Amino acid sequence: MMNNEKHLIVLSGPSGSGKDTVTAKLVENYPEIEVSVSATSRAARDGEAEGVNYYYMDGDTFKAKITDGDILEYTNYCGNYYGTLKSEIDKRLTKGIDVILVIEVEGAANIRRLYPNAKLVFITPPSFEELETRLRGRGTDDEDAINKRLECAKREMALKEQYDYELINSEIDKCVEDFYSIIKS
Ligand code: 5GP
Repeated sequence: MMNNEKHLIVLSGPSGSGKDTVTAKLVENYPEIEVSVSATSRAARDGEAEGVNYYYMDGDTFKAKITDGDILEYTNYCGNYYGTLKSEIDKRLTKGIDVILVIEVEGAANIRRLYPNAKLVFITPPSFEELETRLRGRGTDDEDAINKRLECAKREMALKEQYDYELINSEIDKCVEDFYSIIKS
């Protein structure tokens, strides 16, 4: 099993860094790579779907899953619970399937402790200004949520040293290929 840990890829980056877009494009181009679907207590955004973006549940249900040992790591990010389901990881690692966890920095540090040979990748926008532009342009969050996310982003960017690789997302197709090379390295 130790040896299969290299198939576990953690991708972190601030909200607006393009991590979901890059990941979606990667698995579209390379369907043999899979993405872990997390559990969350936040409400679904427009266009998101149960079991596709997240498994949505209320806080109490989430806490029950922690108690039952179904959650590998979790965090409270900007006021909501987010966690990796054990079932999403085990079945893939056993088969040697590359699986990507798109999670924030605290979760990444916990995965490193559990799986020292996992690959940790940090994705950044070309600049902080660009990040702000993207968050506002997305139009999915209100002003208060955007400001909270920008604060979180600053704290996250300061922690990129704990990662093995840095991906700069200035051009999507190039970023996808760079990510693929890291996964296959
Ligand atoms: P969003 O609300 O924008 O979908 O996600 C907020 C943050 O939570 C993002 O940084 C995302 O990567 C992170 N996140 C999503 N799922 C998980 C998870 O299972 N565990 C952890 N630790 N963070 C997660």
